[in-house]
Amino acid sequence: MSRWTDTMGVALKYLHARRLQKLRTREQILAHQQRRWQAMRTRVADASAFYAPCRSLPLEQWPLMEKRAWMRHFDTINTAGITLSQACALAERAERTRDFRPALGDVSVGLSTGTSGARGVFLASNGERQRWAATMLAKLLPEGLLARARVALLLRAGSNLYDTIGGARLQFRYIDLLQPFEAVLQQLQDYAPTILVGPAQALALVAQKQQRGDARIAPHRVISAAEVLDPLDQASMERTWGVRIEQIYQATEGFLGQTCAYGTIHLNEDCVIVERDWIDRAQRRFAPIVTDLYRFTQPVIRYRLNDILVERAARCPCGSEHIALERIEGREDDVVWLHDETRSGRSPVFADGLTRAILNADPSIVDYQVEQLDADILGIATEPATDDRRRQAILAALATLFATLRIAMPDIVFRDMPAHGLASKRRRVRGLPAPRGHADA
Ligand SMILES: [Zn+2]
Repeated sequence: MSRWTDTMGVALKYLHARRLQKLRTREQILAHQQRRWQAMRTRVADASAFYAPCRSLPLEQWPLMEKRAWMRHFDTINTAGITLSQACALAERAERTRDFRPALGDVSVGLSTGTSGARGVFLASNGERQRWAATMLAKLLPEGLLARARVALLLRAGSNLYDTIGGARLQFRYIDLLQPFEAVLQQLQDYAPTILVGPAQALALVAQKQQRGDARIAPHRVISAAEVLDPLDQASMERTWGVRIEQIYQATEGFLGQTCAYGTIHLNEDCVIVERDWIDRAQRRFAPIVTDLYRFTQPVIRYRLNDILVERAARCPCGSEHIALERIEGREDDVVWLHDETRSGRSPVFADGLTRAILNADPSIVDYQVEQLDADILGIATEPATDDRRRQAILAALATLFATLRIAMPDIVFRDMPAHGLASKRRRVRGLPAPRGHADA
């Protein structure tokens, strides 16, 4: 595929994505989804051995997909005739050589960087990558493709895609995070991006360096993608650059949402159908089950993500009819299950509760980690390290939190902050796997 046809492909899909933004009412959104799904359903049933038996079923009866089943049925789900071993070999080679050009025809392979368990393997054709880029551009650059901007993308896993969508006025630079951070900072300074996009942790580190005088960039827009944006990091970045941090909710599984002018994350329901798997209905917490309306090479149908989303109680003032989130709370693993007061069972404590308790305990804490070491033992590390006063404050805050939640106070072990790399996903709250039958809890 030549550079010219690639650029044209993105441009055409961009116009289409812009048209989809005109879907205003809930009825229009649902009608569009139904049209797309009906077309997708027939195509997929014709081409995917795994899904062929589902042809005449309504969407709710197609099998629920999770990473393990996704990998197990990889060979028969995808419509490109690619086996899991072929895809894995290619993905590993690409990660090793940092050469992400597609090598299976026009299909490229991506790995989802899961925070626990096996990694997921994802396929996308050239056209699908173009659509992804076009949708991203349409959502993020309302000024259009002729806007003047220098976009820096900090990424862990590269793609040659970004080379293809640059023009004279609109430029993209991909900066690989798997290199010494000094080199990342140097490239950023040389490029002087007007728009900075990257994983929250990496952006936060750039902001930190800038506060210490080790970097000097002045982006007009900063967009956090690919992982949960922690309130501490968000505040630090907003102080550094004087802009509101925007968010993209994006995973290998698809481009799922982004913030509006009011800072609310809206789901991209023009591209995906999202079913809610309620975790805590009263608190409006759910795990999304995603059906992608455009991906065909490896159909993403009723794929359940491990994210916990919290839906807004009230409508967003921007007027969008797309599902509005109060926040993305983190991976489902970021739930800590602790014994309740009666010790008759275990109840979930969500990451945000623990986060707030620790941060409110002592405003001088700039970083922290909570790890469940055993059923009733939490390891806690903070930066600056815990002194006696800080320990007492944290213990008191946690006691209040657990009393409110009617949970038995676990043993708390204070520890040193572990070292972590940017190349791995960072989790500030880490629970043990949920006890059996937690879904009924
Ligand atoms: Zn909004």
